[in-house]
Amino acid sequence: MKLARTDIIVIGGGAMGTATGWALARQGHRVLVLEQFDHVHDKGSHGGQTRIFRHAYAEGPRYVPWTLEADRLWTELQERTARRFMYRVGCLDISGPGFHRAREARASADAYGIGSEWLTGTEVNERWPAWTLPEDRDVCFGPDAGFLDVPIALRALARELADAGGEICANEPVRSWSADGGGVTVETAKGTYLADRLVLTAGAWSGKILNELGIPLEVRRKPVVWFEIDRNHRKSVSPEQFPVFISDDETGEFYGIPEYGEPGIKVGMHSGGDVVDPDQIDRTASESDIAPDLRPFVKRSIRGATGRTMNAVVCMYTMTPDTDFVIDRHPDHPNVALATGFSGHGFKFAPVVGEYLATLVTDPTARVRPDFSLSRFAELPLAGD
Ligand SMILES: Cc1cc2nc3c(=O)[nH]c(=O)nc-3n(C[C@H](O)[C@H](O)[C@H](O)COP(=O)(O)OP(=O)(O)OC[C@H]3O[C@@H](n4cnc5c(N)ncnc54)[C@H](O)[C@@H]3O)c2cc1C
Repeated sequence: MKLARTDIIVIGGGAMGTATGWALARQGHRVLVLEQFDHVHDKGSHGGQTRIFRHAYAEGPRYVPWTLEADRLWTELQERTARRFMYRVGCLDISGPGFHRAREARASADAYGIGSEWLTGTEVNERWPAWTLPEDRDVCFGPDAGFLDVPIALRALARELADAGGEICANEPVRSWSADGGGVTVETAKGTYLADRLVLTAGAWSGKILNELGIPLEVRRKPVVWFEIDRNHRKSVSPEQFPVFISDDETGEFYGIPEYGEPGIKVGMHSGGDVVDPDQIDRTASESDIAPDLRPFVKRSIRGATGRTMNAVVCMYTMTPDTDFVIDRHPDHPNVALATGFSGHGFKFAPVVGEYLATLVTDPTARVRPDFSLSRFAELPLAGD
């Protein structure tokens, strides 16, 4: 059994934990990231190869400054590490009649002077040959958006973390942690670690490791499917010709990413999902996991979609009641910071969240964003009540 001492420990080496370790190590702190599985895996919330990044933000204009800052940080990281993980293919926010996603995306873009275009369904079909949208769709096109290759992006962060003297210990689940005025103690199967400060970024396991806080989190099982596109139309769904998209109408909220890395376009349903325990979840995707409206949406909207599935994986969202993030200090321990509840839209923000958490845990004067604070749940019943 080992006993080791460091400046700051991060529990959970997924998207946010890797980025936090990266930010802390680059600030000159000795940092140790403890991850229960391999570094970069498909058992949490960052599996499935790719993630959308975008700047026009229908979820609320207050996210826009962070989308821009994250873009800057990802772009610089990609340049420094010289391995491509950003694909700027554009993003279509699509709304059916009576739905407002496209309008809200455009309003957020206008509020910050970000370039966007307003299109009808027919204009989309004329410009991108894969699409067969009805005329009555409202569409906001964000030209600078696109998708990130998750494994390459997280390994780029990990490489800079290591270059700056930080360490990621993979396959080392944390059993318990405690904190007092003197510092923090973290127990794993392999040993005991002591540090001055602690950051908890445990994703879907946050409700367990922060059980005492009763944060109202819900873990949802989210299947993602790769749909086949026939030979004659595959070029039209390549990253060169097919923007990422998020579509909202009476059948559901669907998102998709061009054919990249493996056959088929990757499509998922943002809405819905069974509530699960992350330690009990069934990770085998089956035909019954494909939401009834998903396949018809793909077949009627994308030229050449055969309806056949090429691959499917199961991922997890950690939802908050308002779908805004939780990023705060622990109410009982000012030397402990935490981040969770990324509600299915956090990955694009990872480097900004990492820098923000690094500041929260090291600078006692740093202010907590009220929209991401724990105190906003004060009026709600505790989880489990
Ligand atoms: C299907 C799907 C599609 C998505 N699409 C997008 C998208 O297009 N754009 C976007 O921006 N976001 C998207 N997201 C959301 C984004 O992926 C998540 O918000 C993000 O991964 C959350 O990061 P995290 O660090 O909180 O969780 P994770 O990346 O899961 O990391 C948490 C880590 O903590 C580890 N851990 C937990 N408990 C312990 C312990 N006791 N000891 C050690 N380690 C522990 C876990 O193993 C895990 O590695 C999507 C999510 C899903 C599931």
